[in-house]
Formats: sequence, structure tokens, C-alpha cells
Amino acid sequence: MQTIAIIGAGMAGLACASELVRAGYSVTLFDKGRGPGGRMSARRADVSGETTRFDHGAQYFTARDPDFREQVALWESDGVVARWPAAGDEAWVGTPAMNAPIRAMADALTVNWGARVERIRRDGDGWLIEGEGATFACDGIVCAVPAEQAAELLAAAAPGLAEHARTVVSEPCWAVMASFAKPLDLPDCLRSENHAVAWAARNSSKPGRTGEENWVIHASPARTRELLDRPRDEVAKLLLEDFFSQTGIDPVWPVHLAEHRWLYARPQVERGGAACHWDAEQGIGICGDYLHSPRVEGAYLSGGALAHAILGQASE
Ligand code: FAD
Repeated sequence: MQTIAIIGAGMAGLACASELVRAGYSVTLFDKGRGPGGRMSARRADVSGETTRFDHGAQYFTARDPDFREQVALWESDGVVARWPAAGDEAWVGTPAMNAPIRAMADALTVNWGARVERIRRDGDGWLIEGEGATFACDGIVCAVPAEQAAELLAAAAPGLAEHARTVVSEPCWAVMASFAKPLDLPDCLRSENHAVAWAARNSSKPGRTGEENWVIHASPARTRELLDRPRDEVAKLLLEDFFSQTGIDPVWPVHLAEHRWLYARPQVERGGAACHWDAEQGIGICGDYLHSPRVEGAYLSGGALAHAILGQASE
């Protein structure tokens, strides 16, 4: 097996690709996003005449596994990540934005952005992947997209793998991005397990950020489900009200307000141990946080595990 197409250039797909390329494989990635990030994306905004960015997906990550710690140490020496003490001793963030490690990995690989894969199908001993009028032929496929999207994409061509993905349910998350003209009298991070706002953080307290008083607010899974299909601007206002009533500070209207709905934010799994699935006979596999643990580290380890499974098969 030499030519691999990877669908999804988030942390899992890129971790898998990096290992395979190191081993001499020809790897091409396809991602529907306009640029690097996946669920580690950063949203650009013009606030009071200045361009600034909000980390509206993953807020920070931890590194416990020795392999991932080694990778994080390399990123740190390249200035791609830094510690964010406000979130805890073990909290790391991308610098200057959360997607920095994704960008760094992608820059060393062949990634097609804005390339949504719509179908995959068998073609002799190999595969064809199809999307938006283009077709790509390869020997093997890695599907590194969230569980629900993997289940749909693989249903016809790889029903066994689709079944693994179908067992996972992801929690949605409404994210609000707000800039205020004056500092709010609040600590940099707020967490709650039983309120409408599960997480709120002063984005501008992270290392290397521009912008004065940028906040990211994440609704709890329950509040998100309640508001799932409400109009976007209404959601932003309601969550801002939740934020002020929860914190008890006087409400102030932001100078910038935006929102994003993550339909598949966090898979409800906690498996531990490197996890992925590789169908060696068909030459197709799946990786992603939903096969390991619902975190950046889980995605990285799952992607690496799939690369090892592919390489292990090749050396048999
Ligand atoms: P993704 O990052 O989702 O990558 C999948 C990629 O596939 C995406 O780039 C997508 O564009 C692409 N794609 C999907 N379908 C297609 C298609 N048909 N064709 C082409 N491309 C496709 N983790 C932490 O460790 N700490 C946190 O504090 C934290 N907070 C979070 C808060 C929120 C709101 C969210 C959304 C996530 C959070 N996470 C957090 C989870 C973390 O972001 C994920 O676990 C991790 O980024 C998942 O990586 P992945 O590669 O598995 O998936």
C-alpha cells in the first residue's frame, strides 16, 4: 500500500498523515474547511478596526501520554504552543491561535482545503474518492472526520466501519464570541457543570493573542440542545444573558458579538488506550477523538495508532 487519501485534516488525520509520510507513503489530505483547524479552529473578526481572533472550538489541551508530550515539547520549541496557566498547570494552547499546531502539521503535508468528500467507492483493488466534481484514486483511505459524519460517508462502501462510528453520539455546543470595550471584573476562566454556560474564558488572556477583552462562552450540552435550532442572533443574546446572570456582574453590551454552532463538539466516549480501526483487506480505516477520548490528545493518539496499524500490516 503506497498511496493513501485521508479525509479530514484535523488533529487525528494530520497525526496519521505525518507518521505515514515519515515512513515513505504518499499521502493526500482532503478537508472541507477553508483553512486549518477542524475543532481547533480560530475565528477571525474585525473589532473596532483591528483584526483579532477567537478560539471558538477547543479552548486548551492537556498532554499526558509520553508520545504526545514529546510532540508538544517540539511544538513548544517551535513557538507553536505555549502554556496557559489560567486554565491550569497542564493547559496548553496554540500560539498565536488554537489552530497553530494544526497549521504547522498541515504545512509539512499535502492538504486540499475547501475539499468536501461526498462519496467513496471501490475501484478495482483501490478506491476512488469523489467530491465537488473531482475524483481522486488511491490505494487506501483513512476517514478522520467526526463519528456521525464518518457513519454517513462510510455507510455504503465500508458498512463495518460505519457501524463502529454509528455507536457514538456527540454533544453539540453553541459558542459565543464577544468583545467588550472595558475589562469585565471576572477571572480569566469560569467553568460550571450545572449552569447554562459550561465554560467562559477571556481569550485575550491566552499567550500571544491580540485584542483587549475578547471572551468565548460555551453553552452546556443541555442549554445547547434547548437552543439548537433557534436563530443565531437570538442564541447569542440569550447566552450573553445567561453569562451575566450566572456571573452576577452588571450586563454590558459587547462591541462585537458572533456565534458558532458545533453540531458534533464532543463525542460521548472515554475509552483510553490508543484506538482506531483498520480493515487491512479492504485498505480502509477510521480514526478520531471518538475512538479514544474526546480531546485533542485523544485525536492525536488515535491518528498515530491508525498509522501504526497501517505500517504494521505493510511489514507483515
Ligand atoms: P476534527 O478536528 O473535527 O477534524 C475533522 C476534520 O474533518 C475537520 O477539519 C472537518 O472539516 C473535516 N471533514 C468533516 N467531514 C468532511 C468531509 N466530508 N470531507 C472533507 N473533510 C471533512 N479538546 C480538548 O482537549 N480540550 C478542550 O478544552 C476542548 N474543548 C472543546 C470545545 C469545543 C466547543 C469543541 C468543538 C471541541 C473541544 N475539544 C476540546 C475537542 C477537540 O477539539 C477534539 O477532540 C479534537 O480537535 C478532534 O480532532 P479530530 O481530528 O478527531 O476531529
